[in-house]
Amino acid sequence: MYNYIQHYINGQWVDSTGNETIDVINPATEQKIGEISSGTEEDLDKAVQAARDAFPAFSQTTQEERAALLDRIADEYEKRKDKFIEVIMEELGSPINFTTNVQYQMGLNHFRTAAKLVRDFAFTEQRENSFIQKDAIGVAGLITPWNFPTNQASTKLASAFAAGSTVVLKPSTETPFAAVLLTEVFEAAGVPKGVFNLVNGTGSTIGNGISNHPNIDFVSFTGSGGVGTKIMENGAQDIKKVSLELGGKSPIVVLDDADVDYAAKTAISNIAGNTGQVCTAGTRALVPESMHDDFIQAIKNHISEYPVGDPKDESTFTGPQVSEDQWKTVQDYIQKGLDSEATLVTGGAGKPEGLETGYYSKLTVFTNVKPEDTIAQEEIFGPVLSIITYKDLDEAIDIANGTIYGLAGYVVGNDPEALTKTARSLRSGRIVVNNEKADFTAPFGGFGQSGIGREWGDYGIEEFLEPKTIVGLPS
Ligand code: NAD
Repeated sequence: MYNYIQHYINGQWVDSTGNETIDVINPATEQKIGEISSGTEEDLDKAVQAARDAFPAFSQTTQEERAALLDRIADEYEKRKDKFIEVIMEELGSPINFTTNVQYQMGLNHFRTAAKLVRDFAFTEQRENSFIQKDAIGVAGLITPWNFPTNQASTKLASAFAAGSTVVLKPSTETPFAAVLLTEVFEAAGVPKGVFNLVNGTGSTIGNGISNHPNIDFVSFTGSGGVGTKIMENGAQDIKKVSLELGGKSPIVVLDDADVDYAAKTAISNIAGNTGQVCTAGTRALVPESMHDDFIQAIKNHISEYPVGDPKDESTFTGPQVSEDQWKTVQDYIQKGLDSEATLVTGGAGKPEGLETGYYSKLTVFTNVKPEDTIAQEEIFGPVLSIITYKDLDEAIDIANGTIYGLAGYVVGNDPEALTKTARSLRSGRIVVNNEKADFTAPFGGFGQSGIGREWGDYGIEEFLEPKTIVGLPS
């Protein structure tokens, strides 16, 4: 059992001023694995005050001091590899290989990248008669979702520490224990007291409290669009800066010269990885009409290479949805697909055979989906793929760009000209050509309703800075 009914404020674990707790469930077993405190507004006030008090000194530390701190954080993070993997498997139901290679690794990459970048980051610049100085923004409130428990917290924390900002973190109530481990990492790495504060609790009390708080200067949020809207509304009251990393409905454009097996496997892995609970997942496969039948056959041939099952089993590719609520949402969308004129290729409603316990869904693929169908427009956040056919590349690009989102896009094929045209025409923040690996120094974020602002690398650090122009400075 993981019982963490305290918050981390001003460099120590402290009791909550309330006595409510929240149960945390392992979605693979449906069993309670621990509990956290449901924090109060008073807890939040204390954490914000600690961050405020720590800000003057931390914001004046040197780049080298902050780089060294980030290096120590990365070292301490690495020492806890097994613990991170165990915790994320338990709280999220994330399969062991994905947890090791993606979940654990992404969190580490952000700290290592920030350590490297901050050493050379230009915090000052002389331009014409202006001296430009980038100051840390102040106290940042960080609100994170459950689908990548260390990655999302770490990208925000690495950027904040690099910039010299102090923070209050509120993780998701579904996956709070990875943040407890991060706290252990920061303590061991010597993060000064008050620089990092952790308050657990509900979105309505702690999340809402952060976006309303007069002593928080910046809210960095990752989560759903609906909550993003509320955060912007709250932030508008005192002109608080907000950055929003929201949802997506990303296209996979399969070019007519693509290897059909490779393209089908790319599409399946996009919905199967992290059980489709990935904001950047490619969930609409746009396939040339002439390739359609071969593509469907390839999906059928390869789907069994992505088994759904127990996260602890090495052969499992896809685990359960994070919660019963998410499972029901995914099932509703599958039903909408079944009720539409789309054709079911594989999967469908209900749990996979033999997996009655745990919030498991079947890998589900629909074809003959129309671009305007609900399942092709709304984020499902589960292992559901919509296949849409196109006549020519211009039509594919139009369909690809035809949602309210713009977080990611994928292009699969060979012709350099078509790859380039497609990749450069997609209206999204991150385009991946032929499954190229991620670059942690490059910006991450969305166009349209996928969000505002950017994370990762130097763009992420910029979010935690305010540029100040000084003209007439004596030289
Ligand atoms: P969510 O919006 O329900 O919750 C996210 C966080 O916000 C949680 O910590 C929650 O407690 C908190 N929250 C809830 N209500 C709040 C309120 N009124 N005010 C302030 N905070 C509040 O999202 P989720 O279900 O945890 O995560 C799934 C969503 O996150 C999906 O839409 C997904 O696309 C998105 N997401 C986006 C990215 C990205 O980088 N763009 C990454 C991962 C997930």
